[in-house]
Amino acid sequence: MANIVAIVGRPNVGKSTLFNRLTGQRHAIVDEVSGVTRDRLYGKSVWNGVEFSVVDTGGYAINSDDIFEESIRDQVTIAIEEADILLFLVDVTTGLTDYDEMLAEVIRRSNKPAFVVVNKVDTGERLPEAAYFYSLGFKELFTISSINGFGTGELMDAVVAAL
Ligand code: GDP
Ligand code: MG
Repeated sequence: MANIVAIVGRPNVGKSTLFNRLTGQRHAIVDEVSGVTRDRLYGKSVWNGVEFSVVDTGGYAINSDDIFEESIRDQVTIAIEEADILLFLVDVTTGLTDYDEMLAEVIRRSNKPAFVVVNKVDTGERLPEAAYFYSLGFKELFTISSINGFGTGELMDAVVAAL
């Protein structure tokens, strides 16, 4: 399968909401961490005539003090390995967390093209806070609202240009 765009990020940043918006699909939200394959959801999307697959890596969660337990690492690693582009989703309403920093390190080591996507920027008032995520050290940063669609067109323009 070619042209794979994987959405990665910690729980509750809005990965599944963005997945649904990009694919126009609805899907069951699986809470349990019960298997590496089952917890990755695939959908099709097309933008500016370019077809691509979107992967929602939503199955993993922080459910213990060990925020980087093995099952989490496995799923993130597989999603990253198979992807052509990573959308590293973060949440402007919570700001930067340790988990974000940890994922940033994993993503950097993969050497895959990655865009930081600051989600929940529902109004322009949140733009100054969103800029703070540049401190993660990635060049490309986009601000979106997966709920109302703000910024998602610009993001998709950049994604298909980079595929
Ligand atoms: P996931 O765990 O990363 O898949 O996150 P979900 O897609 O399940 O979303 C977690 C929560 O954030 C839900 O209550 C969503 O409605 C909410 N959410 C997602 N995107 C946005 C957004 O752009 N703006 C706001 N205000 N809330 C959002
Ligand atoms: Mg989810």
